[in-house]
Amino acid sequence: MLSNIRIVLVQTFHPGNIGQAARAMKTMGLSDLVLVNPRSFPDAEATRLAAGATDVIDNARVVEHIAQAVGDCVQVVGASARLRSLPLPHFDDPEPMASELIEHAQDAPVALVFGRERFGLTNDEIRHCTHQVSIPANPEYGVLNLAQAVQILAYEVRRAWRHHQASPATPQTPPSLPTRDQMAHFEAHLHEALVTSGFLTQPHARTEDHLRALFARAQPSRKELSILRGVLSTLEKAGSNPRSSS
Ligand code: SAH
Repeated sequence: MLSNIRIVLVQTFHPGNIGQAARAMKTMGLSDLVLVNPRSFPDAEATRLAAGATDVIDNARVVEHIAQAVGDCVQVVGASARLRSLPLPHFDDPEPMASELIEHAQDAPVALVFGRERFGLTNDEIRHCTHQVSIPANPEYGVLNLAQAVQILAYEVRRAWRHHQASPATPQTPPSLPTRDQMAHFEAHLHEALVTSGFLTQPHARTEDHLRALFARAQPSRKELSILRGVLSTLEKAGSNPRSSS
């Protein structure tokens, strides 16, 4: 289950932070590290600061874009020190976030995503997440060092995992959730339908952010998502040929 929990670091500037994050992960039993477009990697400083966790560094995957890092994940939680303008579901306490993540990690990959040292995650990157989490720190100075933020959330995940191990198995397994890639296909399909039908007229309307948040809260199962896609396709056909439906 812990092997299904991925840590994603977006465009890390200091390689030392990658090493320290790898060490933080290994102390909590996590091993899946994905680096999105790091400034310098592989790097001697990263390896040095990883200490006994060089295996995590050696096995880390490097990708160009966040979509490649989380496409196969069913839940993606972006860690952010501040509240953003996007209406995504937000955990202001890491504990319930970690319990939910552990539930979903039973049969599919999930991810915790961390931003750049200087300016965190962009809104576009947060759009690839299903949720956001903040570590409730000192409101007057609440921004942690990247690797320390990884340490705290990795610890919360381990704690939730230990509780999960100790408690009896969940009586019914939750229905499988779609991956981020499957959700992205659905969102693209919905976008097409909304534009073609004339519902969406302004290119930067925040309507789609609200719809994305709605789906993130509702967490449709794979089956429900395929029904929604079927509905869209049928409405599209009816819209392009209105007389045939009468
Ligand atoms: N200056 C950036 C923060 C960079 S800290 C900003 O203002 O957004 C680097 C990363 O560590 C952040 O992107 C976030 O993923 C994580 N982090 C730091 N403090 C955090 C906190 N209090 N809660 C959640 N994540 C935090």
